[in-house]
Amino acid sequence: MSAVSSAGPSVSEETPCGDDPRPTIAPAALIERLRRIVGDEHCLAREGELFAYECDGLTLDPARPLAVLLPATTEEVARIVRACREADVHFVPRGAGTGLSGGAHATPGSVLIECSRMNRILEVDEANRIAVVQPGVVNAELSTAIKQFGLFYAPDPSSQQACTIGGNVAENSGGPHTLKYGTTTNHVLALEMVLPDGTITRLGNRTGESPGPDLVGAIVGSEGTLGIVTEITVNLSPIPEAIETLLGIFDDIVPACRAVGRVIRSGVVPAAMEIVDKRTIEAVEASVYAAGLPTSAGAVLIVELDGSKVCMEGEIAAIREACEAEGCQTIQVARDEEERLRFWRARKGAFGAMGRLAPDLYVHDAVVPRVKLPEILAKVGEICDRHRLKLANVFHAGDGNLHPNICFDRRDADELARVIQAGEEILTACTEAGGVITGEHGVGVEKRDYMHLVFEPHDLEPMYRLRETFDPDGVCNPGKQIPTTRFCVESNPKARGYEEVPI
Ligand SMILES: Cc1cc2nc3c(=O)[nH]c(=O)nc-3n(C[C@H](O)[C@H](O)[C@H](O)COP(=O)(O)OP(=O)(O)OC[C@H]3O[C@@H](n4cnc5c(N)ncnc54)[C@H](O)[C@@H]3O)c2cc1C
Repeated sequence: MSAVSSAGPSVSEETPCGDDPRPTIAPAALIERLRRIVGDEHCLAREGELFAYECDGLTLDPARPLAVLLPATTEEVARIVRACREADVHFVPRGAGTGLSGGAHATPGSVLIECSRMNRILEVDEANRIAVVQPGVVNAELSTAIKQFGLFYAPDPSSQQACTIGGNVAENSGGPHTLKYGTTTNHVLALEMVLPDGTITRLGNRTGESPGPDLVGAIVGSEGTLGIVTEITVNLSPIPEAIETLLGIFDDIVPACRAVGRVIRSGVVPAAMEIVDKRTIEAVEASVYAAGLPTSAGAVLIVELDGSKVCMEGEIAAIREACEAEGCQTIQVARDEEERLRFWRARKGAFGAMGRLAPDLYVHDAVVPRVKLPEILAKVGEICDRHRLKLANVFHAGDGNLHPNICFDRRDADELARVIQAGEEILTACTEAGGVITGEHGVGVEKRDYMHLVFEPHDLEPMYRLRETFDPDGVCNPGKQIPTTRFCVESNPKARGYEEVPI
C-alpha cells in the first residue's frame, strides 16, 4: 500500500518516542498528485516556501513539513486526505498558526492542510442569531461583518486579529470575555468535517440539541486529531446595550487578585476581568502600545461590564467597593470609547510589547481555582526567581487562567533548560493547587507529556478510544494532545509517569 515506504524512507536510528517513523524523502508522485488537486500555487513544497510553516506560536521544537496544501473547498480537503492515505503520509490541519502549544507543528514527513483560503462567511441568519462559516474565517472579521445586524461572535482570543475560527474550534479557545460568555464550545452548534479516512460528515444541527452523544462537543477541543473541520455553524450574541470599562491601579498583584474574588462574591458577573503586572506595564509603556499607565503601579485590573444600562450604576459601585476594600490606589471608569480602548491597549499589546524584554517568549497557560491566584502567583514568582528567569504576568484573572510569560533567549542553552524546568514546576504547582495544565492554549506537543499530572491512566483510556474510533490508523495530527500511542507508553511507562502500562 505504501508508495512512500517502497521509496526507501530514511528513518533516523533513534526515533523519539511518539514520533512514528515517516519518510524524510519527498514522495514526488504524491506532491504531483496534490498539486493537481489544489493547483500549483496552492501546493508549497520548496524549501523557501516551507520555512514559515516550521512552527506555530510555540517556537520550541520546530519541524519542517513535506508540503503545505491550501485547499479552497471541502471536496479538495477530502481529496488531499485520500491522497495522503494512499501514500501513507500523515496530515496536520492548520489555521493561522497562532497556536501556542505546537498543535499545528508538522509531524515527521507530514503535510500541513492549511485552511486560510476557506475564509468565507457562508450565511448569517439574523433572526436565529446564527452564522455558518468556513474554518479559515479570521475570528475578529466575523464580528466586524455582523456588526450591521447588531450581533457579535463572543469568543475573543487575544490573537483574534489573526487566528481562525477553525483553529478556535480545535483549541476550544477562550478570551478575555470567556468569564461571561464561555469558550468556543458554548458557541458551536454544528460542524462539517473531513474524517481521517477522507469521508465528509456533518455533526450537530442548528438547534444545538442532538439526541445521542454530543459529538460536536467531542470535536471542539480535539486539537485537529479527529479530522479536519471544514464548516462551522456558530451562535451569535446581541451587541450589549451598554459597556463600561474600569481600570484599577494597585500597589501589588496580590490585592488585585483578591479584588477579583471580591467582585465575584458580590454577585456581579463582569464580561471580563484581566490583570497586567508591573513588568508587563513597564514593557507596554516603553512600546508603541503605551497606554499612559503609571509605571510605578504593581498591577492593573481591567474590569469590563456589559448589559443593560440600568444595571451599570450598581455594578460599577460594587466593583469600586471591592477594589477599594483591597486598597486599590485609584479606580477610573472609561469616559468614552477612546479611553476604553486605551485601557485595553495595555492588555492587548502586552505580548507584542514583551518583545522588548527578551528575544523569546514562552507563554504558559494554566488554570487554578480563583481563590488560589494570590498563592500560585507567589509560587510562580519564586520558581522563576530561583531559576533566574524574567517573568511577566498578564492573564484572565476572572477565570483563574494564568499566563506566566517567561522571557528568555533560546541561544543560551542553559537558560533554555531552566525555562523548561521552570515550566514543569509551574504546571506541577498549578495542579497541586487543584488546577489544570491548560486553560485555552491546548496541549499540543507542549503539554502532552504532562497529561499525567491531571489524568490517571484510566482517564486517558476513553481519550485513546475516541481517537481510535475517528482515526484507527493514527494518521491525523498524530503525537498531539494525548501521550502518543499505546506503543509509546508501553515502551517506557515509568518515564511517562505511569507505574504500569495503562491500556
Ligand atoms: C499573542 C497571542 C495571544 C493569544 N491569546 C489567546 C487567548 O486569549 N485565548 C486563546 O484561547 N488562545 C489564545 N492564543 C492561542 C491561539 O491564538 C489560539 O489557540 C487559536 O485558536 C489558534 O487558532 P489558529 O487559527 O492560529 O490555529 P493554528 O495555530 O493554526 O492551529 C491550532 C490547532 O488547531 C488545529 N486546527 C486548525 N484548523 C483546523 C481545522 N480546520 N480543523 C481541525 N483542526 C484544525 C491545528 O491542527 C492545531 O492543533 C493566543 C496566541 C497568541 C500568539
